[in-house]
Amino acid sequence: MKLLFSSIIITIFLISSCIESTQKRYQTNLESHNHSFSNFEEVTPTHLYLNLIADFDKKVLKGFAEWDIVPKVGAKKIILDIKDLVIIKTEVDGDIIDFSLSGENEILGSGLIIPITDKTQKVKVFYETSTNAEAIQWLTAEQTGGKPFVYTQSEAILARSWIPCMDIPALRFTYNAIIKCPKDLLPLMSATNPQQKNNESVYHFEMSKPIPSYLMALSIGDLVFAPLGEKCGVYAQPSLIEDCKIEFVDLDRMIKTAESIYGQYRWGRYDILVLPASFPFGGMENPRLTFATPTIITGDKSLVSLIAHELAHSWSGNLVTNRTWDDFWLNEGFTVYFESRIMEKLYGKDFVEMTDKLALDELKNTISEMMLTQPNDTRLFLDLKGRNPDDGMTDIAYEKGHFFLLAIEKQVGRERFDIFLNQYFNHFAFQSINTQTFINYLEENLLIQYPGSADSIGVNEWIFEQGLPINCPTIHSAYLYSVDSLIQDLIAGTKLEKSMFNHWTTHQYLYFFRNLPRTYYLSHMDDLDFIGNFSNSKNAEIACDWFKLCIRSNYLKASPSLENFLIKVGRRKFLEPIYKELLSNPEWNNFAKQVYSNAKKGYHSVSNSTIQEIMKAKFGTNY
Ligand SMILES: [Zn+2]
Repeated sequence: MKLLFSSIIITIFLISSCIESTQKRYQTNLESHNHSFSNFEEVTPTHLYLNLIADFDKKVLKGFAEWDIVPKVGAKKIILDIKDLVIIKTEVDGDIIDFSLSGENEILGSGLIIPITDKTQKVKVFYETSTNAEAIQWLTAEQTGGKPFVYTQSEAILARSWIPCMDIPALRFTYNAIIKCPKDLLPLMSATNPQQKNNESVYHFEMSKPIPSYLMALSIGDLVFAPLGEKCGVYAQPSLIEDCKIEFVDLDRMIKTAESIYGQYRWGRYDILVLPASFPFGGMENPRLTFATPTIITGDKSLVSLIAHELAHSWSGNLVTNRTWDDFWLNEGFTVYFESRIMEKLYGKDFVEMTDKLALDELKNTISEMMLTQPNDTRLFLDLKGRNPDDGMTDIAYEKGHFFLLAIEKQVGRERFDIFLNQYFNHFAFQSINTQTFINYLEENLLIQYPGSADSIGVNEWIFEQGLPINCPTIHSAYLYSVDSLIQDLIAGTKLEKSMFNHWTTHQYLYFFRNLPRTYYLSHMDDLDFIGNFSNSKNAEIACDWFKLCIRSNYLKASPSLENFLIKVGRRKFLEPIYKELLSNPEWNNFAKQVYSNAKKGYHSVSNSTIQEIMKAKFGTNY
């Protein structure tokens, strides 16, 4: 999943043994943090048959989930995770059997307990989702500007709100699905997908590789397909498909580049689905079909490195998966590292120096803030017991993880590290592993060849301790330093000119906004907007940073554009910092309340719960 900035690109650049003594101190408590009621140690679900009808009038999915299971000797029940599901009946090997529910938990939902024997082969649950299912967002025709739409977002523990399942990343299963939907719509899943609508409006799907529940995904809308290569293409609403073809024209080359670094892509096809703007994330790495925000369609391919990130998850995350959400950095840190390797190969070192420099600056800010309020969450290996795993989706997993891997690369050399990573992806393919397994594998297969390297790198410090280790690689970017020079000139009195921004990349704009002194922008907002027209930028990254300056400087002229942005865009990465900024300035508090009351019906539950938390922390009541 992509939440963070590090992925921005611009097309202009197309152009040891020592560790053993301390290791015991850091033993991870592995299986206690599984965020699940399921008895996965007693019963193993191996295959899912999902059969659902999408009722757009009632805004529910209705049908059944049938699981092939392998119980251990003596097993007497299976417990599946559910949240807000209406259970109609349950069957065990074809016979109706009474079920019961375990106590309800606000974060986890509840356990669906079905009696079985150790000879049971199938359990079948007939059910209906509720209108407040957290994974699902139903959009009206008015909200999409076309026809109605529905999509799911299962990561981290929301799959249970649309499928009764053992909702833990430690467990993998294959699936078949049948989806029935209204005639003029096309359903797609994280599976084999149709490329056009059929007359029956009934569609069959198959995922033959084992995946964890958080990669279950469904989307139904007025979608059309455009091929971009022999084994890749893009789905989008008809009004957007031509723009998508232009934006993602390099997709085939990107896949080949990724394969050249870490080996074969193992999922068959790789397609992208461009969702409506309410999608709460940048992208979601659903196997075979990345779900992506339309905020990356800018017309200049400047933000498509988000696709490199989701593609990289086909190795780190989907192929080798974090075993618990405490190990989330294994998914995201590896993916950001891999993403930047793909981008470097495609667009050059200058490009990656810019993304890395911006990412490191942001990481340092994040860590400084978190050290004041939640210092333990600055450790790579998290402790999310009793909390929502969503709390772990911060810059730490992504960027501290990324810089840790860069520190290893720096120690052993890129060539040797690449050999190790290829070996790692092969060794753990289609498995879910935890942090300790990674550490052991790293020591036994890489660091052992470099005596003392575990201590030089500070493996334990990076993973188990707070803050940023002193050996964090430093990053220099000539392109961003040229922005520093311009800022110095402006402070010295040089007049702002349009030509100063010629050939600038998205990164340079962001660096500019983030490093412009307050004393300067407070008195130059009108000039900046006149020259850059930033209030109307179609680039959501640039718009987001610009709006933060507008709020800080009470630049009210931007408020209509800001309101439009907050109503149109549902991506949490932009909403969260903007609402925080609005609430930290009393002049904008009423604006925040009023805009949110209009905008919230268009946000996915993932974004809404984050914004509601921020509002509640400020005003003490729910909004
Ligand atoms: Zn990701």
